[in-house]
Amino acid sequence: MTRAGPDLDMNGKLAALLRDFAAIQRSKQKMWGYKRAASAIMALEEPIESFLQPDGTLRKIPNIGPSSSRVIQEVLQTGSSPTIERALAGSGQTGDVERRGDPAGHFLSRAQVLAALRNAKLTGPRLEDYHGDLQMHSTWSDGSQTLEEIIEAGIARGYSFSAVTDHSYGLPVAGGVSMAELTRQHEGIDRLNETHRGTFRLIKGIEANIRKDGSVDMEPGELGRLELVVAAPHSALRIAGDQTARMVAAVTTRGVHILGHPRGRKYGSRPGVAADWEQVFKAARRANVAIEIDGDPSRQDIDYDLARRAVQAGCLFALDSDAHSTGELRYAETAIAHARLAGVPTERIVNCWPLDRLLAWLASRSG
Ligand SMILES: [Zn+2]
Repeated sequence: MTRAGPDLDMNGKLAALLRDFAAIQRSKQKMWGYKRAASAIMALEEPIESFLQPDGTLRKIPNIGPSSSRVIQEVLQTGSSPTIERALAGSGQTGDVERRGDPAGHFLSRAQVLAALRNAKLTGPRLEDYHGDLQMHSTWSDGSQTLEEIIEAGIARGYSFSAVTDHSYGLPVAGGVSMAELTRQHEGIDRLNETHRGTFRLIKGIEANIRKDGSVDMEPGELGRLELVVAAPHSALRIAGDQTARMVAAVTTRGVHILGHPRGRKYGSRPGVAADWEQVFKAARRANVAIEIDGDPSRQDIDYDLARRAVQAGCLFALDSDAHSTGELRYAETAIAHARLAGVPTERIVNCWPLDRLLAWLASRSG
């Protein structure tokens, strides 16, 4: 394994190029068409090159329309796209495919995720070492999966546990759950756990918001009612200044178990929180708080590059899907791929622990 990790693959470069092209479209319909094509390429399981047919045309790919297809063919055949270069030049930007994308962001395409899972030279967790997912959203907040569906899908994926971590009431835009709703949700979880005893365990969690001052948007007594607290930043993500103090405050808050999507970045939209991450990781290590690798393809937060520094700091890790539907549970694979590229020891990943060890760790940190 090279220390640098994988370069942006052609899927990643083309997706970035199509996103740039989307950004300069006057027609909303065309803009969405190119964006949809970019997402479809990032989600392909194979390198885009394998879709090229002997006659030079591209095999049909769902959600990639004729004009996106033409651009992809141009780039695969000639290394550049005159169509996009002309358009970008007209808008004052450059169309250099090689320099497209966000190579420093270390976003992986789905094809790269699957390659990292297959790559036997990498150390770190294998799919079969992963026993359960510790961040996801249900119909109780902004997710579309019911608790029953989460259990069924978890069992189908070979898990022995999953944590339901709906948004806290401090985040009304994401349908945050009130404490009264949480009480009802917990009654439901207790009933389901009784039914699946010995097979599957649903963990009562929450995704609390880290305020700008580093405090968490729930009272200490409220945090104590949860088995698992993921604290994650959802605001003040576009300010340029250093936010080390905010993140250190969050990881040293009693009752917090996981620092969720630490940077709060979004692909093609915002780089998120800037901080001295060594300091944050050291504080998390001392507090026994796990650093999350959020596997949502648009987040990939933290990525393998930053994760290597968390490994050096001695941190625990949580690898989570942040799924809002059962179809998104596979995003955990993106997190596992980053952990493999970073060489995170399986022993340090709380999702890879047996359930009783996980529950003991959760109980030791609860308020
Ligand atoms: Zn979140």
